[in-house]
Amino acid sequence: MSSDPLLQHTDSYYAAAAPTLPAAAALAGRVSCDVCVVGGGIAGCSAALALAERGYRVVLLEAQRLGWGASGRSGGQVIFGTAVDQSELEGMLGADDARRIWDISLAGLALLKQRIERHRIDCDWVDGQMFAAIKPRQWLQLRAWQAELAQRYGYGSTRLIERAELRALLATERYLGAMHDSNGGHLHPLRYTLGLARAAALAGVEIHEHSRALGFTAAGGKVRVRTAAGAVECAQLVLAGNAWLGDTAPALQRKLMAIASYVIATEPLGEQRAQRLIANNAAVCDTNWILDYFRRSSDHRLLFGGRVNYSLLDMRAVAPATRRRMLGVFPQLAGVRIDYAWGCLLDITLSRAPHFGRLEPNVYFLQGFSGHGVALAGIAGQLAAEAIAGTAERFDVFARIPHRDFPGGMWLRRPALALAMLWYRLRDLL
Ligand SMILES: Cc1cc2nc3c(=O)[nH]c(=O)nc-3n(C[C@H](O)[C@H](O)[C@H](O)COP(=O)(O)OP(=O)(O)OC[C@H]3O[C@@H](n4cnc5c(N)ncnc54)[C@H](O)[C@@H]3O)c2cc1C
Repeated sequence: MSSDPLLQHTDSYYAAAAPTLPAAAALAGRVSCDVCVVGGGIAGCSAALALAERGYRVVLLEAQRLGWGASGRSGGQVIFGTAVDQSELEGMLGADDARRIWDISLAGLALLKQRIERHRIDCDWVDGQMFAAIKPRQWLQLRAWQAELAQRYGYGSTRLIERAELRALLATERYLGAMHDSNGGHLHPLRYTLGLARAAALAGVEIHEHSRALGFTAAGGKVRVRTAAGAVECAQLVLAGNAWLGDTAPALQRKLMAIASYVIATEPLGEQRAQRLIANNAAVCDTNWILDYFRRSSDHRLLFGGRVNYSLLDMRAVAPATRRRMLGVFPQLAGVRIDYAWGCLLDITLSRAPHFGRLEPNVYFLQGFSGHGVALAGIAGQLAAEAIAGTAERFDVFARIPHRDFPGGMWLRRPALALAMLWYRLRDLL
């Protein structure tokens, strides 16, 4: 193994609990294809797979390792919708398009489950996801949300759980109630992403790791993508580099802010103890803006995530703070060892709505999942493939979402976001 951390996966529980695969060869020299996909996360692997299934010749470039970014380090919670409420989407787009986005998000959940089955992806899928309320205000909001989903959107798989029942499911006093969705669930995100990549490779996608796309030029209906040691010449390009794309497509940076979130994994707790913590084995997140999220792993650890800031911090400083948050929920874990702690950047937009579109007629981008991409990034890749194949209706619903630049330009937006975060922290306290 290389000692350069950028050449390998981050030291996470997921990387330890996934097969160590030899790296695909870096791109050397010039290749041509129909579509080049930049980014080997869920969005990129999904786009590449869906394109190859349609018969396109596809080259996928990944700067580090497949699944190295958020897709391989996330909380693994598979959740309906997008990171913004349907009511906000209705305000941005009108009721019809908001409804279409809702339907596509559910198609995303179904696609994820179909692919796990069809491609036999061994990723510890478990049914069930819960939103938990800490404050009376949040419990009222959850109740209203559940009613809206059932009545307005006909979504029948959620149910409210009152405090007494919840206390039997979650071994904590912290929550007043929850909304459980039997259609959602959780999985091992790195194994899922690697499974998509394997399916893409089997479908004919040419994959190159350690091959950062440095930039591209589009002219005369052709696109040329440069790497340090080669170039891809293609008819279409899909940019799926998320928070890491940077200078490869500077025009996309203004719409994104990269923030970091952190996860810890306890030592294995034993089946019974883990079961006592979360009796129904659902993935759980609270409804704060700066939220805690947690779930059990297949080897009976607690995986607990939360805490955000604007740059990846040294894990030696972050792990104790994340552990303190975990103990705020499960104080009975005070004596438990933390085996892994890791963080990752994720890409948020100002409104937290996803940001898809075209930089040129033949240059597509998928980004801005705003912490809500495990299911959505998969269907996003599928939508890009559909659009390239000539059926752009579903892609264009997302492309119609209006997005504003982050205020403050490249230099002042971090202080601006720091202030915004402070505001959200205060709001979570109320
Ligand atoms: C800690 C954490 C917890 C999360 N928890 C959840 C959750 O529980 N549920 C949920 O729905 N969402 C969650 N998310 C969000 C979710 O993980 C992301 O929305 C999703 O994985 C985004 O997938 P992606 O393919 O767009 O990006 P990524 O997985 O980040 O992939 C982008 C890839 O592109 C590569 N790349 C970038 N630029 C270039 C370039 N120029 N050339 C070549 N390659 C390039 C990067 O190396 C990277 O591998 C979480 C995110 C984080 C960070």
